[in-house]
Amino acid sequence: MSETPYPYEAPVSQALFDRASVVTPGGVNSPVRAFRAVGGTPRFMVSGRGPYLTDADGREYVDLVCSWGPMILGHAHPEVIAAVQDAVARGTSFGTPGEGEVALAEEIVARVEPVEQVRLVSSGTEATMSAIRLARGFTGRSKVIKFAGCYHGHVDALLAAAGSGVATFALPDTPGVTGAQASDTIVLPYNDLEAVQEGFHRHPGEIACVITEASPGNMGVVPPAAGFNQGLRDACHKNGALYISDEVMTGFRTSRAGWYGVDGVKPDLMTFGKVMGGGFPAAAFGGRADVMAYLAPAGPVYQAGTLSGNPVATAAGIAQLRLLDEAAYEKVDAVSAQIQSLVTEALSKEGVAHRLQNASNMFSVFFTDRQVRNYEDAKRQESYRFTAFFHSLLSNGVYLPPSSFESWFVSTAHDERAVQKIADALPAAARAAAEATA
Ligand code: PLP
Repeated sequence: MSETPYPYEAPVSQALFDRASVVTPGGVNSPVRAFRAVGGTPRFMVSGRGPYLTDADGREYVDLVCSWGPMILGHAHPEVIAAVQDAVARGTSFGTPGEGEVALAEEIVARVEPVEQVRLVSSGTEATMSAIRLARGFTGRSKVIKFAGCYHGHVDALLAAAGSGVATFALPDTPGVTGAQASDTIVLPYNDLEAVQEGFHRHPGEIACVITEASPGNMGVVPPAAGFNQGLRDACHKNGALYISDEVMTGFRTSRAGWYGVDGVKPDLMTFGKVMGGGFPAAAFGGRADVMAYLAPAGPVYQAGTLSGNPVATAAGIAQLRLLDEAAYEKVDAVSAQIQSLVTEALSKEGVAHRLQNASNMFSVFFTDRQVRNYEDAKRQESYRFTAFFHSLLSNGVYLPPSSFESWFVSTAHDERAVQKIADALPAAARAAAEATA
């Protein structure tokens, strides 16, 4: 008999969710947290330590979300916590320049060669929004090329055919974004260089930039085909446009220098977030010095932020980045590979058609037997199998992203005990996926 989707109760989380739903739309502060794609009660977490989260009902989970990427050293890493405590004790915000933001900017510039200058902001959304504005200001052009299934935060102009929560809810667009805001956005299929060339051909002298996830993780993990990113850069430069690589998710995660450290294709501008904030709201955009010189107060393109370069956030980010040496990445890559093979093994054993795709240590499972190269492919998967798989793992103490359109994340803290807990939970989850019906 097939397992029911919700084989257990979470009464304290449910009570909190009921309370939250009165005062907050949908009961959450970011849509994917609401479990709408998989159903059931979202878990309200009360603490995290290493690879584990504990929910309000006192149940412990191995965390394969890692706050959607940032927690690459695991939760409550003692050195990050100590740096934060030290910073907090000296005051939480000054609204003036401070040494922490210089040190964080230096760390980014030292790691990612194409970044000659960087501006700190508070979220990935702000980073991509500002990078697009800067590209438009620098080139004097309006149009932007983006790819279907790539998510760049909830920037109005970039919410056309976006992945992540937008993919989860199957909203092709969102009300509230005006025709004018979306009309300068050209949405093309991912991994299709011909479409890009055609796009430039149709809009001569109008395209300010191409923005792409360095290696997409917001339609599930769909890495760029060989030569795709290089082809984007070449097409941009041939046509006087800037190439913007969004590394909010991949930055400082897929290697010391993010996805740039993997494929070496040099963008004009890059965006960062997640890992660089050590679990606090810190993000950035940066790149060529001649382009960054257009930014206020050095240049005419306005951009600002009350909490930009916040001393607590920058202290957390610096502490985390300084702990992320080559050995740390080797560890994350190794544990990610181990979990990937356990997942494949369990699903294969039950005869479940699936594709496990990865971009260095980021990975996700598509319930389809075909390679997923773009958003259309990703949408063809049997998502109902993911729902059964997800709930079985959740009931056995493994916390996956609550959507089949998201990357899974691991950390240096995922040790043998955590991996064993996943291994123990997988056979039943694979069975549930096999038995699931649409
Ligand atoms: N860009 C990418 C590639 C992302 O994955 C995200 C968030 O998931 C963003 C931008 C937006 O970042 P934030 O949620 O910090 O605004």
